[in-house]
Amino acid sequence: MMLDFVFLQCPECKNWGQDMVYLSITIHESILWSDGNSYTFPHYHQNSFVSCPYCEVYFWKKDAEMINRDNNLEKFKEIEKTNEHFKHFHDEHFFFDDQERFEYINFLNSLLKKGFANTVEREIELRFGLWHKINDLVRYEKSNFFQKIKNSFIKKTKNEFFEQLLPLRNENFEKLLSIFDFNEVENQLFAAEIYREMKNFTKAQKIIEQIPANCEFKPFLETLKKLIAQKNCQVAKIE
Ligand SMILES: [Zn+2]
Repeated sequence: MMLDFVFLQCPECKNWGQDMVYLSITIHESILWSDGNSYTFPHYHQNSFVSCPYCEVYFWKKDAEMINRDNNLEKFKEIEKTNEHFKHFHDEHFFFDDQERFEYINFLNSLLKKGFANTVEREIELRFGLWHKINDLVRYEKSNFFQKIKNSFIKKTKNEFFEQLLPLRNENFEKLLSIFDFNEVENQLFAAEIYREMKNFTKAQKIIEQIPANCEFKPFLETLKKLIAQKNCQVAKIE
């Protein structure tokens, strides 16, 4: 993995902070899930928004002034020298337990509530984040016997958070369905997945029947078809 960094200027307090960028990366393993979430090894996902280490305000990277070695080497060196102890902008979220996951879900929701997502594209990114993090509470690997046993123990506590989040989950689904561009096959598939997770199998079935079998997301489509026929509403791995 080759990493570099750029400097971003916080639009609020005007301090400069470092942000990591990936120059090249070799993926050794990749798992795709029916809700569009993917896990890769090594992990490299970055959000499009960051929090300022100085004033703690969140902002979109694209809205910030950015300096790298190419666009202004002189200024880059100047910031690098005078601000060597600057902290990285915080945009990675690793969770130790469901409590942390729950708090992050509420945080994402608070960003949405205060209108942080000021374009449809940004709202979709936040809402997908919310969807994936809620599903993480019930995202089970069914790979082997021991994993199944382990899941049966952790399920109880996981479901408590999940149950609490059901109204938010439904609201999020409704908002996503209202902003999806249904000319995109990808969005039709995500809509079918949303209805499937909401146990509206009839509606999910109707949508996937409209999608050509040879579309570019064939494994996704095949998995959805199977799950809908089984009336299964669990988030599942794309095989
Ligand atoms: Zn700031």
